[in-house]
Amino acid sequence: MGSHLSTTVAEGLAFMNLIDGKPVDALSGARIDVACPSDGKVFASIPASGAADVDRAVKAARRAFDSGPWSRMPAVERGRCLTRLFQLVEKHGDELAALESRDTGKPVRQGRADVTATMRYYEFYGGAGDKIHGDTIPFLPGYTALTLREPHGVVAGIIPWNYPLQILARVAGAALAMGNTLVVKPAEDASLSAIRIAELALEAGIPEGVFNVITGYGRDAGAALSAHPGVDYVTFTGSPMTGTAIQQAAAVNNRGVTMELGGKSPQIVFADADIEAALPVLVNAIIQNGGQTCSAGSRILIEKPVYEQIATALAERFSKLTAGPHEADLDLGALINPKQKERVAGFVAAAEEAGIPVLARGQVAADAPAGGWYFAPALFGAVDPKAALAQEEVFGPVLSLFPFEGEEQAVALANDTEFGLVASVWTRDGARQHRVAKRVRAGQVFVNGYGAGGGIELPFGGFKKSGHGREKGFEALYDMSATKTIVFNHG
Ligand code: NAP
Ligand code: MG
Repeated sequence: MGSHLSTTVAEGLAFMNLIDGKPVDALSGARIDVACPSDGKVFASIPASGAADVDRAVKAARRAFDSGPWSRMPAVERGRCLTRLFQLVEKHGDELAALESRDTGKPVRQGRADVTATMRYYEFYGGAGDKIHGDTIPFLPGYTALTLREPHGVVAGIIPWNYPLQILARVAGAALAMGNTLVVKPAEDASLSAIRIAELALEAGIPEGVFNVITGYGRDAGAALSAHPGVDYVTFTGSPMTGTAIQQAAAVNNRGVTMELGGKSPQIVFADADIEAALPVLVNAIIQNGGQTCSAGSRILIEKPVYEQIATALAERFSKLTAGPHEADLDLGALINPKQKERVAGFVAAAEEAGIPVLARGQVAADAPAGGWYFAPALFGAVDPKAALAQEEVFGPVLSLFPFEGEEQAVALANDTEFGLVASVWTRDGARQHRVAKRVRAGQVFVNGYGAGGGIELPFGGFKKSGHGREKGFEALYDMSATKTIVFNHG
């Protein structure tokens, strides 16, 4: 393991904030217990940071931006730091995957997949920062006009608990490549890997004060961070409601924001689709990470002639799905916390009460610890398109089926929610692939496939209530910088 922070986990000791390159406790000394969702047992603790800690971290990031070498360093050198971070993530991959799985309850293979994606983010942005450049613009005679891409300054990243390593990497990779400095507030349910990554960032040569992590509750540390006047830009991934609060806080200082706010993503299956190829993808897109994925494929729209056939095949697969402890590496792990389990159970109970047919339930492994926050997957169909199950983000292993008739109705149903993050179209008809992909309001559309997560190179973000701004790929570098125009009057 080779790090005092990581070895403290084994001893059940305390994790620290990382501010200005140093591990520090919250000024109040208050701490939050860290529990493993697989058994509900506390195994570590993190600082419960407040406004004073946020202020300290923002000031460190501010100093590092204003007077440190980072923002002035040639882009290629910043890139080399990120490349070294990629290599360190690879070197510590097993440790990071184990830490992430224990902290979030996700199966170990998902923890490893998250590490692989995390490596790709730092690798991609390590090589991307020196490939972005401005333009020269034809202007008046006697003038030369050009643009530069400049960092915003101090970027605040507020990170959710579902894919902490990956989401931190997509924020930090792009923000750091462009020369910003960072204050990260991970979710209090899953903060450990962020602390570890910030520590590895130091080892990779990223200067002190550039990559700060403070842990704590959203209502305290998160709210103080998004409202801090020393922050130049805020990027947030999480629920629409919290997104509104963060935008309002940032608006007081008129700061820019990127909002990645989840979805109710549809997969549209036409009767001519390769159904055998689609089935495992339809199941995985909602079961991956226990359905706690912003881009989960939570609605399946099925053309009527194949509705019964697909519903039956999905029910068969769903009835075999098993939730269990992360080390057992089953189909899914526990949900993140008791509140999330209650929330998911609430959606399922309301749907049952409303008479929506339950087509199948999976199970919880018989030997799963009783203290874990497990929830057996549920398949519903046909679901009323106006039902809560059809409209709201459940964020659990709950899949809804909807029959449709023809392309018009498919598009209308796909677009009939407030969200617009990801969608897929399954059909062998090439012209229809293009038509439907263009008409569905979603930031990403997959044809004969689905990408719930991953795809580091692919711009990602929402329409409508799913948010605004784009992350991933080259596009994220534009969100994480601002254009400066310089005009020379040389006569
Ligand atoms: P959340 O409230 O959106 O939390 C996401 C992040 O925001 C966490 O770091 C959280 O901190 C922080 N936060 C909370 N309140 C804040 C505030 N007033 N100001 C600044 N930051 C704040 O999500 P949640 O409560 O954990 O989960 C609730 C629902 O959100 C889920 O059921 C799911 O539908 C949705 N969700 C979506 C995504 C996604 O990727 N789209 C991710 C997570 C959750 P703390 O958690 O430490 O309080
Ligand atoms: Mg945890």
